[in-house]
Formats: sequence, structure tokens, C-alpha cells
Amino acid sequence: MSLDSELRQWLNTSFRELSVRMPVRMDDGNVRVFSGYRVQHNNVRGPHKGGLRYHPGVSLGDVRGLAAWMTWKCALLDLPLGGAKGGITCNPKDMSPGELERLTREYVHGTGDLIGPLKDIPAPDINTNARIMGWIMDEYSKRQGYSPGVVTGKPIELGGSHGREDATGRGVSMIVSRWADKENRRLDQTTAVVQGFGNVGYHAALHLSYLGCRVVAVSDSVTGIINKHGLDIEAAGRHKKKNGSLAGFAGGDSVPQDEVLTFKCDYLIPSALQNVIHGGNFEKLQARIIFEAANGPICPYTEPKLPGAGITVLPDILVNGGGVTVSYFEWVQNIQHFQWKSDIIQKELQSTMHRAFDQVMALAEKRNISFRIAAYILAIDKVVRAGHLRGIYQTQH
Ligand code: NAD
Repeated sequence: MSLDSELRQWLNTSFRELSVRMPVRMDDGNVRVFSGYRVQHNNVRGPHKGGLRYHPGVSLGDVRGLAAWMTWKCALLDLPLGGAKGGITCNPKDMSPGELERLTREYVHGTGDLIGPLKDIPAPDINTNARIMGWIMDEYSKRQGYSPGVVTGKPIELGGSHGREDATGRGVSMIVSRWADKENRRLDQTTAVVQGFGNVGYHAALHLSYLGCRVVAVSDSVTGIINKHGLDIEAAGRHKKKNGSLAGFAGGDSVPQDEVLTFKCDYLIPSALQNVIHGGNFEKLQARIIFEAANGPICPYTEPKLPGAGITVLPDILVNGGGVTVSYFEWVQNIQHFQWKSDIIQKELQSTMHRAFDQVMALAEKRNISFRIAAYILAIDKVVRAGHLRGIYQTQH
């Protein structure tokens, strides 16, 4: 791309990084102090936008990387938004709803004036959901007045959008289906494995199964479930909702969760954490196409070895872009104070996902580069062009 060193510095660094300490009264009466982060990477194309993650492994470095990916994802999808990410180092599985609510409200207090409908708009990510987004909206609105546009992924009753809950997984299925068309394959003659069975994994598996694809293995943090004849995803989802995990699901055989990654299938769809495909397992993969539904599921040191193993990667900033796309629609509806119907949202989502997919394919073929590099070139070019038009070396507000 012939980017000069000044531009590289500007693109490589975050605009703002915040660390907060959050004292929270736990149910047993003791106070625990949690660490939280919000990193704003770049807002030259619009307000910062990015999810909020609750996980014991969250660190500032993690959040910094995820924030930059949001800048590229929003640009690739042509959304007028920049990139950000947030996280709290905690294990929500060991916390009561009351403790989670107090922690979330403390995070809004700690991030102070940095978030806002025209500044930085959080959304759900790992272990956060519509209920938590509702608390963010409520806490912020108490301070600033009614502000549904401060956060997306809210419950419908609080200004959430139709189609946001399943948007990321649905978007994944749109990309897989577009790829199958490109390969001249019928989706009902393909098989898929989905690692991770949370918001993204469950909805990706569900929509793929609706499109006829045979989902032969799924997994969560407790177990893997395989069935080479195809799993009943709705039944697996009901089981997980009732029991908290896939363990004991009778619709397939139980295996250690990491085994599903190497199970035979056409399309492998990692939808959980980062770096799950690495030097220790990539040679055992049987899928030849990986769709990155999670952010960063492939270890960067392993990625250069994948083409030699005959494996093609469709990158995260394209594949999982459906979530932020419908988050953008939610934000627009909040600003308009008008609710769109579900069919409009699905139509707009599909056209956004297909347009980005076609642009990535065309550039990759034209320049004989990987789909990831093509996606990055398209995204970085849009950020740089907006930066030049605004005067990038001036202070961002
Ligand atoms: P989630 O918390 O709803 O689900 C995560 C799932 O991963 C859970 O089912 C959990 O059991 C599973 N998991 C954890 N460790 C595992 C392991 N070792 N093996 C198998 N499964 C394991 O989170 P989510 O919102 O679905 O996010 C998943 C990924 O998608 C993350 O990388 C996130 O950044 C990315 N993403 C999410 C959205 C969104 O809208 N939620 C949008 C874009 C990208």
C-alpha cells in the first residue's frame, strides 16, 4: 500500500487507552476491586464502536488489539464508525446477577465522559448480553438524560433493534452461503463444524442448518458434541439454555471440546476465543476452509503455514461483521427514534455482507493475495483516505 512511516504510526497506535479500577460490593458483604479497560483506536470515519467483554483473561493488550480490528471491520463494511473495545477482567460465571449489575454500573461510572452516542458506543461481546447493555443504557441515561444510542445490543424494550441478537451468526451464514455459491456448491451438500456455542456460534450453526448445511459438530467451554449425520441445532440450543452447557446433550456423541476442531467437515467455523488454531493442531485440521466467526481465532505465527497445508481463511473482519452492521442499524434507529421492521434489517444486512464479500474476492483475485490481506487493504485505504480529508495529524475530538 506504500504507506509512509508517519501513517503507519498513526494506524498502529490507539487514540486513547483507559484503565479503571472498580470497587464492587459482593453478595457476601466484602468489596472486590476489578480492573476494566476501554481502548479507542481510531474515530476518523465516525464515533468509536466496539464490544465489551467480560472474561478472566482480559488484559489491556487484548483490548487494544480488538479495538484496532473494529476500526478495520467498520471501514471494510462501509459503516460510518471507528474502532474501540472494552473489557473487564472477571469471571461472570462465578458472579450473581446483582454483582454483575453493580460491576457494569461501576464501569459506566469509570469510563465517565468517554462513551456517548456521538463518541463511543459499546456493544455485547464474550459473556455480555442484552441485559448488561440495558444496564449501561440506564446508568448513562441517569447521568446524561435519555440516551439509547450510547450502547447497542439492548433489549428491544429499551430501544434495541430487531435482528441484533442473531446478527453476527446470521451474517456468518450469509458469508458461508456466498462462498458456497462461488464454489458452485449447494449448501445442502456441505458440512460444517462450529466451535463455541454462545451468541455467535449458536446463531451461525442455527442459520446454516436452516440453509440446509449439515452441522456435524459443535462445542462449548465444557464439551464437544459430534454427529456425522447432522445435529439438531435448535434442540442443542434448548439443552444449553436449560442446563448451562452442551454436556449431556443426547443428540450426538460427547468428545473433548478441542477435538471438534479437527473433525472432518468442509467448513470450520471457530466462534469462541482467539488463538485456538495454532502450531500444535493446524496439521490435524481436516477442513480446507476456515471462516473466522470469532475475532482472531488463528494464531498469527501459524497463519503463514496454512496455505501450504491447503487451507483457505476467510478473515474475521469480514465474516463476523454482521454484528456491528446491525449495531449500526440500531444506533441509526435510536438517533431517528424510529424502529425499523425486521425484513428491512435482514435485507440491508445481506446487502452489506455481500458487498464486502464481493469486494474482498475481487481484490484478492486481482492482486493474487490472501483474503485477509485484501480485506485489510480495502479497510486501511478507507481509513487513510478519510484521515487525509480530515487532516489526520490534528487532534481528534
Ligand atoms: P459468548 O460468550 O456468547 O460465547 C462464547 C462461547 O465460546 C461460549 O459458548 C463458550 O462456552 C465457548 N467457549 C469458550 N471456551 C471454549 C473452548 N475452549 N472450546 C469451545 N468453546 C469455548 O460470546 P460471543 O458473543 O458468541 O463471542 C464469540 C466470539 O465472536 C468472540 O471472539 C467475539 O469477539 C466475537 N464476536 C462477537 C460478536 C457479537 O455480536 N457477540 C460480534 C463479532 C465478533
